[in-house]
Amino acid sequence: MSLGGARDRLLCAAGLPAWARRRRRRDLTILMYHGVVARPLEVECWHQLPVDAFARQMAWVARRYAVLPLEEALERLAAGTLPDHALALTFDDGYRNVRTVAGPVLAAHGLHATVFLVTDLVGTDEVVWPDRLYLAFARSAAASVDVPDLGLPRCALEGPGRKARAYATAVRALKGLPVAEKDARLAALLAALGRTAPEEPGDFRMLGWDEVDAMRREGRFGFAGHSTRHEILARMPDGQVAAAIGRSHEVVAARTGHVPTVFAYPNGRAMDFDDRARAALGHLGVRFALSTIEGFNDATTDRLALERISVGADLSFARFRLLTSGAVALLRGRR
Ligand SMILES: [Zn+2]
Repeated sequence: MSLGGARDRLLCAAGLPAWARRRRRRDLTILMYHGVVARPLEVECWHQLPVDAFARQMAWVARRYAVLPLEEALERLAAGTLPDHALALTFDDGYRNVRTVAGPVLAAHGLHATVFLVTDLVGTDEVVWPDRLYLAFARSAAASVDVPDLGLPRCALEGPGRKARAYATAVRALKGLPVAEKDARLAALLAALGRTAPEEPGDFRMLGWDEVDAMRREGRFGFAGHSTRHEILARMPDGQVAAAIGRSHEVVAARTGHVPTVFAYPNGRAMDFDDRARAALGHLGVRFALSTIEGFNDATTDRLALERISVGADLSFARFRLLTSGAVALLRGRR
């Protein structure tokens, strides 16, 4: 049991989340999830949340928040008509398990969520490139790799803990590179891991368009664009950024019959999107864009850099409550 864990539970027992939540009752809280898995993965993966943790979080959210469909919440934020304690749920990337594993939990609580699709990968056996790398590390039989320029000098890979750490180091380094250079280094790393053949996607499989259609008709999910192949927009050459945003947005509109008013930037840190992306969104008439910058939204928040609370597999339930309520931001001295 970690000291931080004990402290977080004490802060929750002292009522800090309830107090922080009241202070933020006029803000829009947007939670960011990715996948939800029936069983924890052997090699730790931050963005695939075990379903028991997800179910506990949704029960908490459903009791304490006015959960709105994201696009409605954004319109009402702009119009100044949000209810108190407004919250929207989002799932980035479009994993099939959002329907099969998260879907029944959302349905049990009557909750709506918006899914951001990587449109070129919908209905394929392909996974987003960071997941491709994750699967290669998780399934590699190599005892070690030696890739010093990605932070892995003579790096041992025995056991899930070492594999998870090596993956985290490599993916962080790759995310900083221009797309063409990233692609070349990624290919070399997959070769070093002995995993150049396509990977069976397993828990990382994307939704198909027929599933998207069924989810939309059931009324519990909305859809919007998240680029075509999940390249980080700020690392793309001029001329490709507008296409990655525009094609993704237009394909979602054509396939779902609803023109999204929102987009989510791949990776989404402030360094991951730029004025080229903003200009492309403006040209399309997309009024809102979600970042992964940690925070809450009010009338003054930049509509093309809306903030979210990221929920990953490393969060304890106490930490989830502290983060979502805004208590963590208060403890860090932010408003
Ligand atoms: Zn993403």
